[in-house]
Amino acid sequence: MHAFEQYAARIAHVGQSLGLSGDQIQTLLTPDRVIQKTLSVDLSTGHQELSAYRVQFNNARGPYKGGIRFHPAADLDEVKALAAMMAIKCAVVGIPFGGGKGGVMVDPKKLTPEDLEGIARAWARGFADDIGPLVDVPAPDVYTTAHLMDVMVDEYTKLKPELGAQASATFTGKTVAHGGIEGRDTATAMGGVFVLEAYMAEHALDPNDMRVAVHGFGNAGATVAKLLYDRGFDIVGIADSKSALMSEEALDPYVFDAAKQSGKTLIEAAQGHVGLEIGTPDEVLTMDADILVPAALDNVIAPGKGVAEELTAKIILELANGPTTAPADALLEARHIAVLPDVLANAGGVAVSYLEWEQNMHGATLGREAVNSRLKEIMTQAWHDVSEHARVHSVSFRSAAYALGVKRILNLR
Ligand code: GLU
Repeated sequence: MHAFEQYAARIAHVGQSLGLSGDQIQTLLTPDRVIQKTLSVDLSTGHQELSAYRVQFNNARGPYKGGIRFHPAADLDEVKALAAMMAIKCAVVGIPFGGGKGGVMVDPKKLTPEDLEGIARAWARGFADDIGPLVDVPAPDVYTTAHLMDVMVDEYTKLKPELGAQASATFTGKTVAHGGIEGRDTATAMGGVFVLEAYMAEHALDPNDMRVAVHGFGNAGATVAKLLYDRGFDIVGIADSKSALMSEEALDPYVFDAAKQSGKTLIEAAQGHVGLEIGTPDEVLTMDADILVPAALDNVIAPGKGVAEELTAKIILELANGPTTAPADALLEARHIAVLPDVLANAGGVAVSYLEWEQNMHGATLGREAVNSRLKEIMTQAWHDVSEHARVHSVSFRSAAYALGVKRILNLR
């Protein structure tokens, strides 16, 4: 099933339970605008023409909002699904944004830092007339960083001098030195931790009894591993795109994050550590653990591949977008596994993007502590709304989150 088909399956399901009309379903399935461009860039390997997209899905609640990803699989179908999910996500956490997403089909692992900057500049030039602080506000996503947002703002500002200081409100997730907000770097993981804590408090679960496996060791994965470690959880497995490290005794994610930052692979970082088992990345998905955090790409928890059938975790905290396929939803529900869904669990990133945007538009500055406490309020409120809906209607947290998001987008009572 392609990404957009999965989104459509979830909308069909929610449409039935909310009794939506055909027109309402069509609104949720039809992007307002799909913009496709070819970016001409001179890379270190020579000249290239790259396919680039911006999908502006729905702005019923405010400007289109969502990241730009650089990835070989970032085709139009995927970007469209991700844009639609952004609209749901922003509605679930109650921020006044709609849904959008951008992408460039390119393999960032084959590029130099200068190449990435060149592509970022080309994207900003290519889409400058389609975005704006009150129109469409991009941000980082898979393989795009705060630095690349700074580069995009730099290019965009040259083309839109009339916007003055508000030009920087067109992109969020910038570095703090360039108009970004404290705490945006850890916001996705932190938001997920707040949701997990709220769930655990409701079920009287103790972090000290919890073994966690984290799939993906980029910004979200490494940060969540460290935040959970600080709170007394045992991190028993981590994985990046090449390998996994697993340990019955639990491991210290700070050590491995520091090693990765210094350019080492996880396997190199594992040298000299006793009791570590090395495996393929996907082994962490099914290893013995209480909580699984998919924090990499989509479709990793799917039936047929064995993962949805075999995983041992009782709680899944979805920090990635779309890690669980629609067919896996029913299977996990039948297995009584609590899925804290992406449109809630990873919404901390865009929630803090909203605080950054507000700061750029109105000039007030929040420190890290104030950002985290606003984030906690936003995520805890969203959790209560979702869990209440799930309880009252006896549905999964994903169905509840989609229902809540859809009701807010369509302005239903
Ligand atoms: N790319 C992130 C997401 O998928 C953040 C989007 C944003 O901050 O606009 O939620």
